[in-house]
Amino acid sequence: MRRKIVAGNWKMNGSKDLVQQLVGVICDRAVGLDDAAEVVVIPPAPYVPLVQQQSDGKLALGVQNVSEWQSGAYTGEVSADMAKDLGCGFVLVGHSERRQLFGESDDVAARKVERVLESGLTAVLCVGETLEQREAGEAEQVVAEQVRRGLAGVAGDQWEGVVVAYEPVWAIGTGKTATAEDAQAMHAEIRSVLKAMDAPAEEISVLYGGSVKADNAAALFSEPDIDGGLIGGASLKADEFISICRSFPAGN
Ligand code: PEP
Repeated sequence: MRRKIVAGNWKMNGSKDLVQQLVGVICDRAVGLDDAAEVVVIPPAPYVPLVQQQSDGKLALGVQNVSEWQSGAYTGEVSADMAKDLGCGFVLVGHSERRQLFGESDDVAARKVERVLESGLTAVLCVGETLEQREAGEAEQVVAEQVRRGLAGVAGDQWEGVVVAYEPVWAIGTGKTATAEDAQAMHAEIRSVLKAMDAPAEEISVLYGGSVKADNAAALFSEPDIDGGLIGGASLKADEFISICRSFPAGN
């Protein structure tokens, strides 16, 4: 069975106070429930140890980015091994903000995926089309290419460390969400691209991201190819995030 995952991407938000307010409540009300998903918190890297301490090791943790290099003279970078050293299990790769604001290409994403997998962590490769690409009828082709190129170096057992997050760029932080039907169609397409790459497509979790909220999560998570969510803004609000974590259909 595929892993069900809800991952909260705090982006460059938060403070020691926020960690203290949020983490205990999430652990008490969203972690370890029957039928619920694995709950992952992805704070800015400097807060990882504090989140870990506050959660008493109950939360899975991630970082939002790592270097494409293993170690060395790369001032300002954080390596996948360092994320592992801090106790992280997950790394976001190729988030649309990294692609759009920092010029990250599919090739850079592919090198980061390789570093993450070499470190034994799970790489969450983020893919998604812009509004212009969707309106031009290119969404499927763009997403398929991002999946193929971002995961080009993955082979054999390494697929166990791969999660894909479909995040249409026009839905991130905008309040606009893909309909459950449209998201399901793209997730099915991603799975067929993975199959064509000889990946164990039925075992790879594909998450949806883009303005997921308490009131739309259940519809999205009940689609057969949507295995959970990557949550931005709503992951900073305890009640919203907790109810998203509880939005899976019973028996999952
Ligand atoms: C994200 O940052 O990955 C994201 C999906 O953001 P939001 O939920 O705010 O749209």
